[in-house]
Amino acid sequence: MSSRRLVVVGAGITGLAAAFEWRRRRPDDEIVVLEAGDRIGGKLHRIQLAGHWYDTGPEAMLARVPEAIALVEALGLGARLVAPATTQASVVLPEGRFPLPAGTVLGVPASTDGLDGFLSSEGVARVRAEADLPPLAVDGDVAVGGLLRERLGDEVVDRLVEPLLGGVYAGRADELSLQATMPQLHAHLGEGSVLAAAAAAREAGTHSRGDVDGPVFQTVDEGIGSLPAALVAAARAEVRLRTPAHAVRRTASGFEVSTGQVAAPEVLTADAVLVTAPAGKAARLLGRVAPGAVEPLQGIPYASMAVVAMAFPAQDVEAGSGLLVPPVTGRLVKGVTVSSSKWPHLGGDALLVRSSVGRYCDESELQRTDEDLTAAVVADVADLLELSRPEPVQTAVVRWGGGLPQYLVGHPARVDAIRAAVGEVPGLGIAGAAFGGVGLPACIRDATRAVDALL
Ligand SMILES: Cc1cc2nc3c(=O)[nH]c(=O)nc-3n(C[C@H](O)[C@H](O)[C@H](O)COP(=O)(O)OP(=O)(O)OC[C@H]3O[C@@H](n4cnc5c(N)ncnc54)[C@H](O)[C@@H]3O)c2cc1C
Repeated sequence: MSSRRLVVVGAGITGLAAAFEWRRRRPDDEIVVLEAGDRIGGKLHRIQLAGHWYDTGPEAMLARVPEAIALVEALGLGARLVAPATTQASVVLPEGRFPLPAGTVLGVPASTDGLDGFLSSEGVARVRAEADLPPLAVDGDVAVGGLLRERLGDEVVDRLVEPLLGGVYAGRADELSLQATMPQLHAHLGEGSVLAAAAAAREAGTHSRGDVDGPVFQTVDEGIGSLPAALVAAARAEVRLRTPAHAVRRTASGFEVSTGQVAAPEVLTADAVLVTAPAGKAARLLGRVAPGAVEPLQGIPYASMAVVAMAFPAQDVEAGSGLLVPPVTGRLVKGVTVSSSKWPHLGGDALLVRSSVGRYCDESELQRTDEDLTAAVVADVADLLELSRPEPVQTAVVRWGGGLPQYLVGHPARVDAIRAAVGEVPGLGIAGAAFGGVGLPACIRDATRAVDALL
């Protein structure tokens, strides 16, 4: 086959992993990556904090789903991988702080073991009483919150599931799709009860989203934010920054991608096009070439958030790797990661902490100025961690408008419709966090799947 041109829309992890995979298989092709923003990486981003490279986007890669670790190794950076020093997280509840109970599937318990104290005695009794309910009969997709409230009571949702789902999706259990966010649990609902389904899911060992005891995560010592540059170099891709793609059109021999700033429009020809822009942008791009994908893409909303990174003077804190802070506490922050305890390479000279604010449909606090937001987050963190020296030596705010796609009820059907509409057009592909998982391994897997389909 002669040399071809692949155009990738979006220089996030999905687009860059796809470019890298394409290069491995097609050494002589031309790869052009169009990026609307002024830097590569999308949600991957690092800053200098107290003399360390510090991630303000993703900071941990799940190791049990192998694609992210495998990609780092394929880049020749395996020696830079770091395992956490501790993964013990606690949940902040109105009564105080409690270690995250072991043995759940993303917070869904398989039994009442370990729930005493974490739930009220009525809450534990409610979980136990699931055995007396009629057998489960779930047809299709349902909201995580709806099903679990009905079967196990509100406390399981508000205290256990919400903080974990909030951490992964910045979403709300009452709106998120059970099938999309907990496929392993959904697959075992035929067991007749939620507890039995959770037990079966754990038994099958198919759960893969930070939901088992001591999940194994890894990071990269110079930051996960160092990966985009390594990927671009290895992919030998031409990246065009500040160059948004506007539309994709089919031609007799391939595609035309209209691109560039309004003042300097350009049309780029391509033999294959892979779209990895977030869903709303992808919908606009694909209107002419894959109209059937537009409506389901528009049905995937995003949550916005802000990450505040803080360096405090070195001091002892007893919070393990960090705290999950569910809405039931009424707190501003939704989580606190104690990076200098969690990651050995960040320990030592300062207390490094990051905290996030903002959930789906609960983004009003993001209207504050950076200064205001930082002051409020620092106060919340100082209180939660009981800091003896609460004056930070450095802070930074990174805002993620449209940071995380929401897998709402019906998401799997939406994804099927999108993939079917795009799949009807030979040479056209779509991939990214909006579809088969928001975590880095899932994005990389989706990138590889898309490259497979295109080639
Ligand atoms: C704060 C935060 C923390 C996270 N933490 C973790 C974590 O610890 N572990 C984990 O596994 N995952 C984590 N995630 C999730 C993960 O980082 C993301 O899901 C993933 O990086 C998304 O990658 P992507 O390539 O699909 O999309 P993006 O990173 O959004 O990339 C898409 C790119 O397309 C560009 N673009 C948009 N429109 C156009 C256009 N018209 N033309 C050209 N380019 C365009 C955008 O500018 C962007 O660069 C986190 C996410 C956030 C926001």
